[in-house]
Amino acid sequence: MTRHFDVAVIGGGPAGYVAAIRCAQLGMNTACIDEWRDREGQPVLGGTCLNSGCIPSKALLDSSELYEQAKSRFALHGVRCGDVVLDLRTMMDRKDRVVASLGQGIASLFRAHRITWLPGHGKLLPQKTIEVRETGGGPVTAMIEASSIILAPGSVPVELGAAPLQGDLIVDSSGALRFAEVPPRVGIIGAGVIGLELGSVWRRLGSQVVLLEAQTEFLTMADAQIAAEALRAFTAQGLDIRLGARVLGCRVRENQVELSYQDRTGDHSETVDRLIVAVGRRPNTRGLFAPESELLLDEWGEIHVDEHCLTNIPGVYAVGDVVRGPMLAHKGSEEGIMVAERIAGQQSSVNYATVPSVIYTLPEIAWVGKSEAALRAEGKECKVGIFPFAANARALTLGETAGMVKMVADAATDRLLAVHMLGPHCSELVAQAAIAMQFAASSEDLAMTMFAHPALSEALHEAALAVDGRPIHIARTRRT
Ligand code: FAD
Ligand code: NAD
Repeated sequence: MTRHFDVAVIGGGPAGYVAAIRCAQLGMNTACIDEWRDREGQPVLGGTCLNSGCIPSKALLDSSELYEQAKSRFALHGVRCGDVVLDLRTMMDRKDRVVASLGQGIASLFRAHRITWLPGHGKLLPQKTIEVRETGGGPVTAMIEASSIILAPGSVPVELGAAPLQGDLIVDSSGALRFAEVPPRVGIIGAGVIGLELGSVWRRLGSQVVLLEAQTEFLTMADAQIAAEALRAFTAQGLDIRLGARVLGCRVRENQVELSYQDRTGDHSETVDRLIVAVGRRPNTRGLFAPESELLLDEWGEIHVDEHCLTNIPGVYAVGDVVRGPMLAHKGSEEGIMVAERIAGQQSSVNYATVPSVIYTLPEIAWVGKSEAALRAEGKECKVGIFPFAANARALTLGETAGMVKMVADAATDRLLAVHMLGPHCSELVAQAAIAMQFAASSEDLAMTMFAHPALSEALHEAALAVDGRPIHIARTRRT
């Protein structure tokens, strides 16, 4: 029997489940179909972000940071704790409990909003109909018709022909979040966001980590000045980052992986105990739609959408990693809210110019807006103010003085164009920059705002003052 809903969402990740909740808040009878199963085979909501992405990686980043602090930094503060012992099993169990508790939280929000959760694989058919099958290609369990449909199937890791996944030896990010022991040597292909975050986890826990990055420049998605300083900081921590390295192939021998790669100096090889492939993610559209549905993909395999996430089919929307833009949980969630509100007849939109990005290393890297080079390449005349954390009192009390805040404003109007940061707690500080930009603030607006002392956010204030050549705690003027 076909069931009818006002809205059916395929995908229960941060784009899909948030869209479903907002639809229900707006009074729509909503269903959410999701095929994710946990390791016990139970259906769970939250998608990649909760189950094998943002949350487990941050849990391990936080735990491994505490371990490293206890081992080598507490003594600097006069805190001695004798032998510090790593209990990896407990660390992993804690991570799993954090994930499970958040998953239960989403399920209870679904119950509270009377959202129908249909575990299984959803496939879009013509006439806004969805066929739901048991996960893994089982029988059809439901047929659904909906007035509006939201596709939120997320993304999957890009696979590399030169390094096919193999058991727990050659893994993607999901495998790298559950090693049973600390591998003495870890190789990572790709020094992007995942490579740096998971490389930091395993380095802190005791592995020697080598990252092989194909590009000759480090972190091209970040501002070049921030990337250069981050590379220095990570190298000093012991991450062995090799740029311009192309992996040619790998061979598993005696529980180790032998890698061959090439860089501008010639051919090389490396032997590691575990290899993590982290070379990007691609849209997940496998089995998502029948060809007769006539859903249009673009040349990158993303679902083609307009600025309001409407696909080429009236009443069918797509949000999150499966559509253009950065593959970030919060970007998908905002798209989900926008689409729900537009279905309800509101005129919502997403401001893509103020999507914050964070890389949760230590120091953290965070930004909102384009890099200085990209802005100048667009012909923007810029004023730049920089303030180093080394001159921020709170950074000194914390003992975290690496990095800076860099503010870029329009030379003519003073409107904030971008803020780039490297330093402690920048994942939190970047929200202040995003709020300022969302409110179309000028650098002077921030310069005129009073910040508490001593606080890391004073670096933002000082960077704003520096745009106008008048920072207080550093003898430097602005750059245009
Ligand atoms: P997903 O979270 O991938 O969810 C899609 C859901 O749809 C999944 O549950 C999937 O099983 C289901 N699905 C797919 N197809 C079907 C179908 N046909 N039928 C039924 N169900 C289907 N982003 C951040 O912003 N911050 C971070 O710190 C961060 N850390 C990350 C760390 C790692 C290791 C990884 C891998 C990613 C990280 N990301 C982070 C990226 C983030 O996880 C994604 O941007 C986010 O999950 C995308 O949300 P989504 O809802 O579009 O897709
Ligand atoms: P990425 O795009 O950040 O990095 C991939 C890196 O691999 C790039 O530097 C690329 O040049 C390199 N690469 C590609 N092919 C290669 C090859 N053959 N050999 C060597 N290097 C190669 O992708 P990712 O790190 O896999 O992360 C995937 C997505 O997940 C990202 O788009 C990111 O938005 C999201 N994510 C976000 C966070 C966060 O917000 N903190 C954390 C993890 C992941």
